[in-house]
Amino acid sequence: SLPLGELEQAIKWDAQGLVPAIVQDASTKEVLMLAYMNRESLGKLVETGQTWFWSRSRAELWNKGATSGNTQQIRALRYDCDGDTLLVEVDRQGPACHTGEDTCFFRTAATGSGEENGAPRKASDRFAVLSELEQLIADRYKERPEGAYTTYLFDKGLDKILKKVGEETAESIIAAKNADNDELRYEVSDLIYHLLVLLRERNLPLDEIMAELERRHERPRRD
Ligand code: AMP
Ligand code: ZN
Ligand code: ZN
Repeated sequence: SLPLGELEQAIKWDAQGLVPAIVQDASTKEVLMLAYMNRESLGKLVETGQTWFWSRSRAELWNKGATSGNTQQIRALRYDCDGDTLLVEVDRQGPACHTGEDTCFFRTAATGSGEENGAPRKASDRFAVLSELEQLIADRYKERPEGAYTTYLFDKGLDKILKKVGEETAESIIAAKNADNDELRYEVSDLIYHLLVLLRERNLPLDEIMAELERRHERPRRD
């Protein structure tokens, strides 16, 4: 990775001193938005760890989420082969789009591919539901909507969450003794949900668990 000065040199700023920046959800890899950055916004990004852009319409520096609260924390800053595009991987608080949609790319053009008639754009990977659930739990953690079970768990705190993880583990063990898997499917789903709540409470991203599993996978143990 490059120090800021060298990164500034590596980037091909356009005639207006701007470079397009694609913002991507670091967990789900969903493409969230496109905005433009100038040198000053790059400095602010590095300084604050949040996304900063240059608004071409308002002609001013713009800290994403400054008014909406829907800020984005930098996980990685990448630049492409010829240095004319930035890729900003973020953890996000709430929707990225000012319309309230998760991503700015919520509309689909007709291309005859058939995709446009389908459900709203979602990661095709079934496992992506884990990341989406993690994001939903993170939103609940921040917003604490009244009456939500997840809010109740966070308000009660770590000991309550641990108790639930223990209960759901025990229930999964009992369910595993059944002839069919109906109860096991249900209890393991409960367990995974409560584990995700625990990870949020302890501020441990699911991504770090995946990275740990990947590391183990790369060095298979022979014993
Ligand atoms: P925010 O940065 O979320 O506090 O929103 C402040 C203003 O920035 C909004 O009223 C919009 O004009 C603009 N804005 C926010 N998010 C986006 C986005 N994803 N794409 C384009 N403009 C945005
Ligand atoms: Zn390029
Ligand atoms: Zn938008």
